[in-house]
Amino acid sequence: MALSDLPIRDDLRGLTPYGAPQKHVRYALNVNENTHPIPEPVARHIVESLAHAVLTANRYPDREFTALRESLAGYLSRDLREQQIAPEQIWAANGSNEIIQQLLQAFGGPGRRVLGFPPTYSMHSIIAAGTGTRWIAAERDADYAISPETAVRAVEQHRPDLVFLCAPNNPTGTALPLETIEAVYDASDGIVFVDEAYAEFMPKGQPTALTLLPGRERLVISRTMSKAFAFAGVRLGYLAADPAIADALRLVRLPYHLSALTQAAAVAALAHAPEMLAMVDDIAAQRDRIVAELPALGYHAWPSQANFVLFEGVTDPQATFRALLERDILIRDVGIPHALRVTAGTPDETAFFLAALAALPR
Ligand SMILES: *Cc1c(COP(=O)(O)O)cnc(C)c1O
Repeated sequence: MALSDLPIRDDLRGLTPYGAPQKHVRYALNVNENTHPIPEPVARHIVESLAHAVLTANRYPDREFTALRESLAGYLSRDLREQQIAPEQIWAANGSNEIIQQLLQAFGGPGRRVLGFPPTYSMHSIIAAGTGTRWIAAERDADYAISPETAVRAVEQHRPDLVFLCAPNNPTGTALPLETIEAVYDASDGIVFVDEAYAEFMPKGQPTALTLLPGRERLVISRTMSKAFAFAGVRLGYLAADPAIADALRLVRLPYHLSALTQAAAVAALAHAPEMLAMVDDIAAQRDRIVAELPALGYHAWPSQANFVLFEGVTDPQATFRALLERDILIRDVGIPHALRVTAGTPDETAFFLAALAALPR
């Protein structure tokens, strides 16, 4: 029996699922994980919290994940000057992918449209399809930037129900000026969503979209513990927005969607935010090293504010991908012609990747 033989929804026929290859390799630099392990003292505290949570696992978890929202609000408020994020402004789910799904369930769906700017995070359009929301692709400027004028033109042309932005953008690493987000917000009357999965890797002190929240009740900003926080396996994503947004998501979430174990693990990890984030500066340095060294190998590397680098000038990306895999290195073919993306990890991983690439024909 094949998928096409099943009575599947017409709008899902012929679609391809998210499919980053999962292979066991020594150098896994393909899905932008934090390649540094969790520090052992932090791991011990997390295990103690989990042990405690298991003892009461006969009961449903706190449906409002109160302690976790307090921890997340405190974490986000840390880097803000006069502004504070309140726990009521936080909503969390099993990864920011679930945040996006709930957002589209509440504000998208059949008959509604979401505008995005490819190349961008592939899950944005895939989750749109899964929720029956029509995905509209708008053009970026040359160099993958999105100026306020370019963004506003697309919003005015399409009048979407939602606009999806990604800052810094995956897979290009491109920064997004706050002016573009403000202009999109002013031009639209729908939800403006900013995916800030890589915010912690931005240059220190550079303001994020969080600073735009006051007075903008249709603005939604998502973050994740999967990248900088080295917590991809736990599945914890969250958003900051007006408290009414969380009320909308309460209509579509499954009851008790965040397990007691997830909540306990995340609260414990957030209590150690400085230790969990200790490697972020080192990773950013490796990213900058990759950008600096690739031109000498004949590639063009795009400047990146995230934990990965997109590089162009690859004659045959699939051939280079396979040749690196033979050397136990897994990177990502993101479907951009003559380009590949590599995650920045440890100094050893960077050295091994650069040496392997240098030994290959371009
Ligand atoms: C990795 C990534 C995420 C993270 O998804 P989780 O479900 O939180 O693991 C979200 N958005 C973008 C742009 C990403 O690259």
